[in-house]
Amino acid sequence: MTKKGLLLPFLLLCFVQFSAAQHTYCGYQKATNQLANQFPTYQKAVQQTFDEAKRIAATSSQSRSNDLLQVQVVVHVVHNTTVQNIPDELIYEQIEILNEDFQSLNQDQENARDIFKAIAGNAGIEFVLATEDPDGNPTSGITRTETEVESFVDLDLDLAAILEASAECGLDFTCIQEKILVGGLEESAESGGVQMDDVKNSERGGIDPWDTDRYINIWVTNLNIDFLGQSMPAILGFAYPPVGAPNWPDEIFESDLSSVAGVVIHHEAFGKSNAGEGLLGNLADGGRTTTHEMGHYFGLRHVHGDGGCGEDDGIDDTPAADAEQQAQADPENLPVCEELYAIDTCPEDDMPDMVENYMDYNAITCQNMFTQEQVKIMRAMLQGPRAGLLGQMSTSTAEEVAATQGFKVYPNPTANTLNLSLEGYDIADFEVRVQNILGATVNVNVTNGNTQIDMSELKGGVYLVNLVSENLQIVKKVSVLN
Ligand SMILES: [Zn+2]
Repeated sequence: MTKKGLLLPFLLLCFVQFSAAQHTYCGYQKATNQLANQFPTYQKAVQQTFDEAKRIAATSSQSRSNDLLQVQVVVHVVHNTTVQNIPDELIYEQIEILNEDFQSLNQDQENARDIFKAIAGNAGIEFVLATEDPDGNPTSGITRTETEVESFVDLDLDLAAILEASAECGLDFTCIQEKILVGGLEESAESGGVQMDDVKNSERGGIDPWDTDRYINIWVTNLNIDFLGQSMPAILGFAYPPVGAPNWPDEIFESDLSSVAGVVIHHEAFGKSNAGEGLLGNLADGGRTTTHEMGHYFGLRHVHGDGGCGEDDGIDDTPAADAEQQAQADPENLPVCEELYAIDTCPEDDMPDMVENYMDYNAITCQNMFTQEQVKIMRAMLQGPRAGLLGQMSTSTAEEVAATQGFKVYPNPTANTLNLSLEGYDIADFEVRVQNILGATVNVNVTNGNTQIDMSELKGGVYLVNLVSENLQIVKKVSVLN
């Protein structure tokens, strides 16, 4: 047998393993790395946003922690084939799964080991399909777009690329995988080929998001690659963490990423009874891929922090884990959760790997919880960079939209006096009402004919400043830094 003859079966094996081992194959790191390459301050801004959420989580009053926070979702089905045009039922199912997992209503939470059950957290987030589109028209919260794009993961997986990678990497499987997948995506981006974010762009075969400040956009589409004539998932989903929202203190990141905010899910991994999930084995199950990606959307990282035991996910109650060792584990051979429980990739940590966690990288079938600290971060993000999702469910009239343009609040963020100005109207004719992010009116001192508010007594967080008259209600968000 020639050397090439030996190599081919090996490489084929690699790719079978590749799909089997990467059970929650998530594009988070790849997607964020691409942005980091594009924008040098991106990672720093993500970290700053996370730190700010942690600060809010630590200082936020506990009474808030039981409130159910409602967010509205739009699902964009972008399909090239009939099977990719998933039925409404799968979408309803997926929303139900999100609601169970983010409200600790999932039945399998009972399966968590006692040490972890004790620190499981209820995120208290309710997902509803939007009933009103951005123009104020009634909607099912579902859009359907036929596309010419066969897959939004554009990888040139020809034999030449694989042989080239293996020539550089020898038989190092991780190295080959990185070269082909990451290198391929970068090459595709550079050459102007299809990019993963194109699904969010009407001019590139996808569909533009609905206002990403107000809606959680979920795109369901094909993320498969062709490998030697076989179609297999390259990525099951990806989402960007919150960063640089206009209402969030952020000096270092000016680029507007709102056009790519949201969650992208491979069509076979969406919903609970998706026939395609059977083909994915333990890669995807029960709609948990979307739960995982939604965790990223609300600022969570993988439990292993995408690194070794020294790399932290920034969350205090998740145990350390080693990304590389976890990636080597083969869930096909460890289908029983009890067997996975033996895994401890960072033994110096006094807890085993938290395979129960939605943000862990082990078999998705054993996942059933977020931790309390993870939950605090997600809720803090909903008081910060994701705050627009809350409390803005009602329509603004055309006059309100126009009046809002002339409504200024500054400085934002503020710790003391907030100044208000309003073009085209006499601001003294309005009632000034300040609400917290849950819609409750808070007591503040308004002076100088409605042009100044004393915010110094308020707890840190995001507030809505309302100007209310008989015909108009206009709102601005403001961050308070106390
Ligand atoms: Zn992930």
